[in-house]
Amino acid sequence: MRNFTYDQPGSRVIFGAGAFERLPDEVKRLGATRALVLSTPEQARDAREAVRRLGGLAAGIFAGAVMHVPIETAREAREAARRLGADCYVAVGGGSTIGLGKAIALESGQPIVAVPTTYAGSEMTPIYGLTEDGIKKTGRDRKVLPKTVIYDPELTLTLPPKISGPSGMNAIAHCVEGLYALDGNPIISMFAAEGIRALGRSLPAIVKDPADIDARADALYGAWLAGTVLGAVSIGVHHKLCHTLGGTFNLPHAEVHTVILPHAVKFNSRAAPEAMRITAEALGAESAAPAIFDLSVRIGAPVALKNIGMPFDGLERAAELATQNPYANPRPVEYAGVLELLRSAYEGKRPE
Ligand code: NAD
Repeated sequence: MRNFTYDQPGSRVIFGAGAFERLPDEVKRLGATRALVLSTPEQARDAREAVRRLGGLAAGIFAGAVMHVPIETAREAREAARRLGADCYVAVGGGSTIGLGKAIALESGQPIVAVPTTYAGSEMTPIYGLTEDGIKKTGRDRKVLPKTVIYDPELTLTLPPKISGPSGMNAIAHCVEGLYALDGNPIISMFAAEGIRALGRSLPAIVKDPADIDARADALYGAWLAGTVLGAVSIGVHHKLCHTLGGTFNLPHAEVHTVILPHAVKFNSRAAPEAMRITAEALGAESAAPAIFDLSVRIGAPVALKNIGMPFDGLERAAELATQNPYANPRPVEYAGVLELLRSAYEGKRPE
């Protein structure tokens, strides 16, 4: 076994169908008395339900979260928090809503209770992002890591299959990159393998029957593990490419992860054989890259960049940008290899 450092900040996790009803107790436990509830406009109903449960502990609702946390939205939410005298933030939703909570906590230092309703995993990471003038900047600060996370699979029953599938593939991507992270460790690898197993078996079941509460719980468990992996170790060529494509070409976040992942895995396959072996085994397959591709096909998720808005003439620019300041990765991230990866992903070719 190689030497490693394990330095994992903790969150309190409440997991299970019906766990949402614990929200008021969890807010009180933090010593807070005025919780501002955050959501997207589409999930305002979930936010109102949180307020109903919080009763006198609710300070109000800010239902204006949008993807990638534009600085204007963060400012508006921070102002609402000040006006309402909030001392804690309840983020009910996916990565966009939790990201907004992080943007407020970054400034105020006040605690977040996250109630995740997708599989993106942001609730388990100290990573925040803010978008200003079209450029998304990310950073790490333990202040933004939610103090308490309530995972209630009942809240995910409304997540449509076409969002559930790619969201779960986004979580698998965190796990896979955690397996070959240069600063990885055996505990996080255990989490990653179990995360891939849980998501690999639950996503097809969810797409078949979105009301399957056991499969929903299994996927949320996988998402928890995946978020923990993402928060604990560094990310490689896959996440770098997704950030580049998402930021520069405005491609949808979870879908771009879904399309790129099998090709990024193929790119790294020779340089990270142990990670490949574990990934394939967790998916019950012989080889990691085709197994991930086949899972996407099985759950009806997109497999080609050309079908999610990527212009063909942007591939070279994307390869240039992704190789300028590459993240640490097991295989050197050079232009020709990355362009080849992107061309295969553009066409949606099954990697062999
Ligand atoms: P999202 O939060 O944007 O949600 C997608 C859509 O699904 C929204 O309209 C939302 O309201 C809706 N939705 C969410 N849950 C629902 C449910 N249960 N039922 C019905 N509709 C529901 O999507 P996401 O993929 O979770 O988050 C993406 C964002 O999170 C990106 O900005 C990404 O960069 C960020 N992210 C950050 C981290 C981190 O560690 N900081 C990790 C992963 C993702």
